[in-house]
This record gives sequence, C-alpha cells and structure tokens, in this order.
Amino acid sequence: MKIHEYQAREILQQAGVPVPPGQVITSIEEAAHVYKQVTSEAGTDLAVIKAMVHAGGRGKAGFVKLVRSADEATEAARFMLTNRMVSVQTGPEGLEVSKLLIAAGVEIQHEYYLAITTDRAARRNVLIASREGGVEIEKVAHDNPDAILKQHIHPLMGLQPHQARRMAFDLGFKGKQVGQAAKIMLALATTYEQRDCTIAEINPLIVTPPTEAHPDGQVLAIDAKFNFDDNALFRQKEVAAMFDPAEEDPGELRAKKFDLSYIALDGSIGCLVNGAGLAMATMDIIKHHGGDPANFLDVGGSATEEAVTEGFRIILSDENCKGVLVNIFGGIMRCDVIAQAIANAAKEVGFSVPLVVRLEGTNVEQGRAILEEAKSDIPTMQTAGDLGEAAQRVVAAVG
Ligand code: GDP
Ligand code: MN
Repeated sequence: MKIHEYQAREILQQAGVPVPPGQVITSIEEAAHVYKQVTSEAGTDLAVIKAMVHAGGRGKAGFVKLVRSADEATEAARFMLTNRMVSVQTGPEGLEVSKLLIAAGVEIQHEYYLAITTDRAARRNVLIASREGGVEIEKVAHDNPDAILKQHIHPLMGLQPHQARRMAFDLGFKGKQVGQAAKIMLALATTYEQRDCTIAEINPLIVTPPTEAHPDGQVLAIDAKFNFDDNALFRQKEVAAMFDPAEEDPGELRAKKFDLSYIALDGSIGCLVNGAGLAMATMDIIKHHGGDPANFLDVGGSATEEAVTEGFRIILSDENCKGVLVNIFGGIMRCDVIAQAIANAAKEVGFSVPLVVRLEGTNVEQGRAILEEAKSDIPTMQTAGDLGEAAQRVVAAVG
C-alpha cells in the first residue's frame, strides 16, 4: 500500500525526523491563506506547493513549485488542481490532482538520497544512500552506481549507530550534521521495521546553508515516500487508515472487495483465469499469439459465483477491453460456477465484445450445459478445446 507525502511526513515527524511544517489544501481558494499561515509560522516568505499523488517525478513535471507570495501560491495551486500530472512514473494519461501540500520552503545547500528497503538476495534490510540525491537519482543509479552507498542491517540488532555514523561520514556530512544525519537514518530504519514498510525513502534529505541560528546547517527531510506490506496491514491500523481509495485503480478496488487478484494492464484482451500460475501462462500465450492482456485476474479456487460475476463486470467495464478469454482448469473451482457467472454477466451487462471460453476439469459437463443454454444471450461466444487454440481465437477476434 502507498500513502501520500503529507502522510509520510507525519510518520517521519512521529519518529523524530525534522520536517518543515506544512498543510494540505483541496481548493485554489485556500492557497493564499495557508501560504500565509505556513510561512509566517516558519519565519520565511518561501513556500513549496506540491501535488499529492501516489507517483514521483513531480518536480520535473512542474508539480512541485517554489513560491514567494500569496498570489504565486494561488497561481501554482490553480495550475496543479486544474491539470493532470504526467510524469515519468504515471503513464501518458497522467493522474488527477485533488490535494496539494503547502509547506514552508527551505534553502538547500545540498540534496542527499536516503532509503531503507529489503535486499532479498542478501536476506537483510539495507540502508541505501547517496550524495547525489534529488530529482536525478534514477539517472545516478544508472550512470554512476558507485555513487550509491549501501549498509546491510542485521535482522536482530537493527541498524547500529556506528553504521549510521559511518554512512554519514561517507556521504560527506560535516561537524554537527553527522549526528543529525545518523539520527535520521536510525529513525528511518526503526520506522521501516515497526511499520512493516517495503520501502521508506527520503529524497531529498537536505542540508541547509549555515545561518546564525544554525551555524552547521540543518539536516531535514523535504520529500518522503513509504510503501507498506499489504499482508501486514491487519496489524498496522494507523497505516491502514491512511489508505486513499481515490489513488487506486477503480477495478482493483472493486476486485479487492471480492478477494479477487486483479491487476489492470494496458492491452486489449481481458482474462479471467483460476490460479496465479495459470493466469501468468494465459497472459504469456496471448502474447505469444500476438495479443496483449488487458488485465491479470485470478479468481482463485474458492471464489463464489457472485465474486466471479463481479470479475466479469470489472473486466467488461474496462474501455480498453476488446475481447475476453476465460481459461479455467477446474480443480477446487468448479466449471459450472464459472459458466453460471458467464451466464449471469451476459444477462446483466452483456458481452458486446468477443468471448472465448476454455473449460476443463471438475464439473466440466455441467459447465458446458450451462453455456449451451446461455448461448442465445452470448452471440459473441466461442469455445476452445485447449489453451493455444483459445488464445489464437481471441487474438483473431480482437484483430
Ligand atoms: P519529486 O520530484 O516528486 O521527488 O518531488 P520533491 O518533493 O522531491 O521535489 C523535487 C525537487 O524540488 C527537490 O529535489 C528540490 O530540488 C526542490 N524542492 C522541493 N522542496 C523545496 C524547498 O523547500 N526548497 C527548495 N529550495 N527546493 C525544494
Ligand atoms: Mn523527491
């Protein structure tokens, strides 16, 4: 599960990581007022306005803007709330922006990258950091991998203070910054562990130029991204409450309610399959015959007729879906349940696109009989004997 940056900032603050103050707005009208509040609190005229969406690359897309007046704040808010954000992480259709964060702006002397994630190959969590942080981090990782530093974390002892200090020195922090940076690394590692994260990232972690009040500069987090392990959400109530359905694919949300594993994809052939392995194989065979799957949908072994019917509703509501392939190997899942769901979906929504059905296994005869009876409701239906034939037929029908 992903959360918004403003929520990630709350989590960081709770862990003792210094973050400039900020507030969320949802309308253009609030921008001026909140700009004044946030900047006067922080004793500066600089503020940063940021789109709250579950995707990065906002800076380069023009959805992170520095402003120095209430008017500039209003203009930035107007732009972000009335345009979709298209970044390298969103795909060409972009994302709708309905929330903005207005935070006190800070002067930046240098930007660093800091993250904790799990290194599966090493079977340990790992602290990753770079002196070359900020919006170019992907490029750094690609062109100059030596600039990315790593420290593995002992599974029982956690990140050790000496490891964090070593990392801070290696990143080039000086004087009092070393202690500040190390403290942030330790807090991030503890948060990662306690909150069941799959990634906890601060990019950039920055140091401010020296001032009278802070002669060594201040180390601050000004952007944060957290992902959480869905399987741990049952024990992470506070995190689970941060879920924002507006950021999810509507089909995936509906599928979740019925315990269906559904992932929307870019292709044109909707697939309904039982078993993750068979679903993967089905997608491969569609590709092999020159088609592209519109989704991954594993109805599992124990889905009810109602859940499978919902699966068809979800597939058929996808505008990109130009044909449907049903591939069932009935084991625990019975072919008659699937066939009945097809008949229900045909009555309710109708298959306006070609449908190819391949059924084998438990109760296949009953399943075929149900389909035979429903045939008049589904003029676009074809049946197939094996998977290769089924894939060929649906690819040909979609054209
Ligand atoms: P991202 O592009 O989605 O990762 O958004 P970030 O929040 O990381 O912002 C992108 C970039 O904007 C940062 O790397 C900074 O260079 C700049 N930026 C963000 N906040 C501030 C700020 O308070 N002051 C200054 N000077 N620059 C900022
Ligand atoms: Mn960032």
